Amino acid sequence: MYGHPNAALLSYYGLFALQHRGQESAGIVTHAGSKTPFQSVKRMGLVSQVFNEKDIDQLKGSYAIGHVRYSTTGSSNLLNAQPLSADTSRGQIAIAHNGNLINAARLRAELEMKGSIFQATSDSEIILHLLAQPGASSETKNPLAALRELEGAFSIVIMGEKEIIGVRDPHGFRPLSLGKLDDAWVLASETCAFDLIGARFVRDVEPGEALIINESGLRSEFPFKSSQESFCIFEYVYFARPDSNLRNINVSQARVRMGQELARLHPVEADIIVPIPDSGIYAALGFSEELNIPYEPAFVRNHYIGRTFIQPTQLVRDFSVRVKLNLINSYVEGKRVVVVDDSIVRGTTAKNRVINLREAGAKEVHLRISCPPHRYACYYGIDFPDPEKLLANQYSQEELCAYLGADSVGYLDVEGMVRATRLPKESFCLACFTGDYPIPFDASFNKLIMERRHNQAHLLPDDAVLF
Ligand code: AMP
Repeated sequence: MYGHPNAALLSYYGLFALQHRGQESAGIVTHAGSKTPFQSVKRMGLVSQVFNEKDIDQLKGSYAIGHVRYSTTGSSNLLNAQPLSADTSRGQIAIAHNGNLINAARLRAELEMKGSIFQATSDSEIILHLLAQPGASSETKNPLAALRELEGAFSIVIMGEKEIIGVRDPHGFRPLSLGKLDDAWVLASETCAFDLIGARFVRDVEPGEALIINESGLRSEFPFKSSQESFCIFEYVYFARPDSNLRNINVSQARVRMGQELARLHPVEADIIVPIPDSGIYAALGFSEELNIPYEPAFVRNHYIGRTFIQPTQLVRDFSVRVKLNLINSYVEGKRVVVVDDSIVRGTTAKNRVINLREAGAKEVHLRISCPPHRYACYYGIDFPDPEKLLANQYSQEELCAYLGADSVGYLDVEGMVRATRLPKESFCLACFTGDYPIPFDASFNKLIMERRHNQAHLLPDDAVLF
């Protein structure tokens, strides 16, 4: 938020709208202008657990940035919670980062060689260090020039003492939108945050754009070499909220069209279409509409189950499978059922739901998935397990059907998924499905550096105790 007397409160509400993007920690940093210090509240947990009324009252100022964290790089602890802030030669800076850097290990090593001291392990801290570097030449006096060092996915909001800046990497992997509320400007990962606080959507921050918001208004810079846009298609499939518009396309409608495409690609004679809630709801609606088969919400989701920290014994595993979804047997008994979900990762959800349906007396169970099989790692901000743990890499199509216990399994194909978005194929990152990475890099090299970092506590021999 830039320029609103209730910046902290509105950011707090905005974070509620974005809670699906990260549930590990949440934070808000505010600034009240002139030389006052930034105020910060960050804790582990959900937005509802992190902030109390007193916190929001203490977060004074008309500028605020906030963050909810979902870790892909760096462990889940308070030191890695965002926004990250620092007092630098350029004044106070705070940042909130969405995405994942692919050259983090190299950049961190280089910065450390120059004397940088890191507090935590997330890649986002590197961004803060780069911004804090005092510029030597007139070119690097612009702190945004330092961001050219970054490779990978980054949608960032930066708060300085006089401005708020929204930046998207030149590939535009992750979303970032601009809104307006009265005279204030708002930046958010998804437009559903604008709806909640009554802000009006203005436009998306462009790939490669730095949008600088200060007293003089808005200024746009393009500090990066321009690249082909590679927006993450999985935002449409699963990650974003259905009520958000990404690149002016409503997510729920794209999901309905994915369901329609899926029905055309893998039609089946059935009595009912059942979604896996919440992720399969809109695709199931499209599937049902296309084949004119009734949509029946037979699974009931418990919305109040957070993470359980109890060790995964068999009893706990059984509990966690059952606690999230319960099946209303009468919908499915004696029926030929199509069950629709957005994706299969390890296959746990699909396998268990097929078992539930069989136990409830379903005559046939056909599984339909509204994206292609996941086979490749994501290096740009979505957390998938190692490729060898992805179900599609473990079984052939027939084996997979048998493993899941279904009568048939059908995935949407890449072409159908892209068509459903109504956007050009070349503007997407499809790497988790195709293995075509928009930014080529040597994964084994990166892994090696990371491992070395963990193994060698320091470059100095053990007896060279200096501190
Ligand atoms: P799995 O049970 O491992 O096959 O995971 C598939 C389920 O998790 C589906 O219902 C998806 O909606 C959801 N899902 C897909 N991708 C992710 C992800 N990256 N993180 C968490 N959940 C996911």
